[in-house]
Amino acid sequence: MAKIAKTGIFRALGLKAKMKGANYGGEWFATSGDYITSRNPTDGKVLAKIEQASPKDYDKVMKQARKAFLAWRELPAPKRGEIVRQVGEALREKKDMLGALVSLEMGKIYTEGLGEVQEMIDICDFAVGLSRNLSGPTLQSERPRHRMMEQWHPLGVVGVISAFNFPVAVWAWNTALAWVCGDSTLWKPSSKTPLCGIACQNIVNEVFKRNDLPAGLSCVTIGRGSTIGEKLVNDPHIPLVSATGSTRMGQRIGGVVGARLGRAILELGGNNAIIISDKADMKGALASAFFGAVGTAGQRCTSTRRLIIHEKIYATFLRKLKANYKNVKIGDPLDPKTLMGPLIDETAVADYEAAIKAAKEQGGKILYGGKVLRPFGAPTFVLPTIIEIENKADIVQNETFAPVLYVMKYKRFDQALKMHNDVPQGLSSSVYTDSVGEGESFLSFLGSDCGIANINIGTSGAEIGGAFGGEKETGGGRESGSDSWKMYMRRQTNTINWGGEVHLAQGVEFKA
Ligand code: NAD
Repeated sequence: MAKIAKTGIFRALGLKAKMKGANYGGEWFATSGDYITSRNPTDGKVLAKIEQASPKDYDKVMKQARKAFLAWRELPAPKRGEIVRQVGEALREKKDMLGALVSLEMGKIYTEGLGEVQEMIDICDFAVGLSRNLSGPTLQSERPRHRMMEQWHPLGVVGVISAFNFPVAVWAWNTALAWVCGDSTLWKPSSKTPLCGIACQNIVNEVFKRNDLPAGLSCVTIGRGSTIGEKLVNDPHIPLVSATGSTRMGQRIGGVVGARLGRAILELGGNNAIIISDKADMKGALASAFFGAVGTAGQRCTSTRRLIIHEKIYATFLRKLKANYKNVKIGDPLDPKTLMGPLIDETAVADYEAAIKAAKEQGGKILYGGKVLRPFGAPTFVLPTIIEIENKADIVQNETFAPVLYVMKYKRFDQALKMHNDVPQGLSSSVYTDSVGEGESFLSFLGSDCGIANINIGTSGAEIGGAFGGEKETGGGRESGSDSWKMYMRRQTNTINWGGEVHLAQGVEFKA
């Protein structure tokens, strides 16, 4: 397959070298005079410059988003689902080009870029089905001839803040659900991947216009976290902020939204481990550890950061893993032969170097990697790295968003579990074992303390059908499948007296 060129991607997705960063349907606009530069992480070259939304531009967008919500909530949910079905179709048509843009701007390899767009299509399909089943239970009343039930109503304007590493899918996880739930949405994409934000908005704008829907249903304001991001999280017109990013960002946003008693879904950093038992299928464990640690150049929230390996198989497992590492083809993410692309920018590379230095100082031994590469001039490529170190080392306790894998050994399964949970984060986790006892104890209340716990598959690569998110410093939020939609609606408990006679609850008597 021939490599997709930048000009083709730009043409297909309505992108230009200079653009404006605010939109609620129709023309893009911005008045800040302050530009964000989108760079290709592969060679450091400028892809485009985007004028940030100013606070006034934000207010204009928000006014429209609030108006759109009032009209959109009037539409029956299955009709809203039909619009989301059309968004899914539009994404199918643009899958190749949008996937290529993700590779170009973010740096993940093309097959992963395509996978990310597939995830958007999948959540649209999921949301369409959901639109006919946003249901609450009917409950038994203690009062004679009464009925109780729960209803779910649209919430308002949902604010979405996304990270650079899933520059399109996380937006879709939130918006597909929010739209069928009857909400309008306002998105602040990562300022490292603004083009992905503009391209997605252009795709939905066409669908919404064709259906004559109110302007403001889908809105975007591009800008930095410290400017437009802060404006969004402080905005009392946003009842729900769904924010994906680092734990530091989540602490800030959680505090601000909490202080105004708003609702927040926080999807933050992970520190994901696989326990590899001596009773494991070695081939499967190798494949999962390899993809988990090296895939997306270690820039997934669910990337495998730690391997806790039984001492009996420790040496053999690492010998085989290193052999895989030696075969990793590093290069242009749009080249079909490439297995690992660049890190997002030079700051990420500096974090990688700092982690390796710290690991050495804290007793770590580099088993593979530890070097920065410059295949295209820009110092944004690194060797995937394996470091033998103790779990309690400070550097292991923190998430470094790069392909650095910490390995350690264990003797008894209860020791492995203790090590596994002994980090501040709690996103994704896995055990490789053919022992029912080990597997079940990993999933039990005594086992993994993460939001995602797997047996015989790795930590990375969740499906949209399940609720996605994690515990502890990962923030506690859940997005995507299962009943995550409930966060995007307001719940109402109803009691209906169909018998006529008034009965007070708990047998209270109150008569004159
Ligand atoms: P980041 O925290 O630097 O930025 C994330 C987003 O938050 C960006 O859009 C940024 O502009 C915005 N932001 C930052 N400060 C803000 C503020 N004060 N107010 C409002 N917005 C603000 O994260 P990143 O480097 O883009 O992404 C990597 C991180 O994201 C990693 O820690 C990774 O684990 C995490 N992540 C988590 C999940 C998950 O679902 N748990 C998914 C993807 C990424």
